[in-house]
Amino acid sequence: MKAYVDDATCIGCETCPKVCPEVFHMTDEGIAHAIDGKIPEDVQGKAEQAAESCPVEAIDLGD
Ligand code: SF4
Repeated sequence: MKAYVDDATCIGCETCPKVCPEVFHMTDEGIAHAIDGKIPEDVQGKAEQAAESCPVEAIDLGD
């Protein structure tokens, strides 16, 4: 599983890095960014929780 943030949709609410800091961080531009590689299995549940918590559905989880 990998995570992608649509930077045009993200409103910089900082929820995803709070829910799953292993995968998401805020950039200097104030939007979220996901790690490039595969999400470690032990944090996949938290990554899904972060995606569900995003108020603008900017996070996409895929292969
Ligand atoms: S939860 Fe959504 S809107 Fe908030 S920082 Fe993360 S991607 Fe952006």
